[in-house]
Amino acid sequence: MTDASAETSSASGAVSDTETMSNKAAKKRRRREPPPDPAPLPGLVDAHTHLAACGGRDAESVRAICDHAQAVGVDQVVTVADDMVDARWAVRAAEWDDRVYAAVALHPMHAQDLDDETAAELEEMARHPRVVAVGETGLDYYWPGRSDDCAPPEVQHETFRWHIDLAKRVGKPLMIHNREADRDLLDILAAEGAPDTVIMHCFSGDRNVARECVDRGFILSFSGTVSFANAAELRAAAELVPDEQILVETDAPFLTPHPYRGQPNQSYCLPYTARALAAVRGVPEAEMAALLGANARRVYSMPLP
Ligand SMILES: [Zn+2]
Ligand SMILES: [Zn+2]
Repeated sequence: MTDASAETSSASGAVSDTETMSNKAAKKRRRREPPPDPAPLPGLVDAHTHLAACGGRDAESVRAICDHAQAVGVDQVVTVADDMVDARWAVRAAEWDDRVYAAVALHPMHAQDLDDETAAELEEMARHPRVVAVGETGLDYYWPGRSDDCAPPEVQHETFRWHIDLAKRVGKPLMIHNREADRDLLDILAAEGAPDTVIMHCFSGDRNVARECVDRGFILSFSGTVSFANAAELRAAAELVPDEQILVETDAPFLTPHPYRGQPNQSYCLPYTARALAAVRGVPEAEMAALLGANARRVYSMPLP
């Protein structure tokens, strides 16, 4: 993902200091404010979110997030773990509320946490009936060098290979995180042999990478980034994906769709992105939502709500 701050530029010329100050304060306030509810768009599934990072703590707070989402048509969500603590929590959240399903793995940033003990525990969790995918795993080349906590690429490669094998052993989809690592990621998948179902979460490649993923039968999941002002190439990618290979996700609390970029994201914001996809693909929004929901239920083997 790239970061364009073009949308923050001010058009007006002479503004007084007090005005500038109050504008800044207003902008800051808006950043903390959740976006308004979108008009309902029934039949959707949030294919990738992080409920704990969205304020989910216990059964009650998880129910509140799901109630809010369901009120605008988002009937089910897949909550995704980044590390072991998160993975244990995600499985419990999926037990608390039947609208929640879980995905478990070590995020590439935490790839160094894989050892015999965590491997055994992850495998046990991956076999849990409420766990619908192994993820998010993959490669992140953005953070190494920027964060001391991030696993180096070689360690990420090894842990990614282990997760590919895990997905095959448990017969569940592999949910992939890819940041600035297109070539290595596709090469490792090809060398290891991809599982039957591969989901490219928060797809962020150009149309060539999209075409390669489509040709390999992968599922491309689009987040709010597809609605960003500077995302013409991503929209070109979203346009060429066949009907059966497209999903929509929030990746909440991150990547809030346009025009609420920077404000807190939650599953209830999914209709904004689903509508953006409908516009890109030139189909009625109800039809797009039905397709996205049906794809998620098929890919994750989830029942109707
Ligand atoms: Zn990710
Ligand atoms: Zn994520």
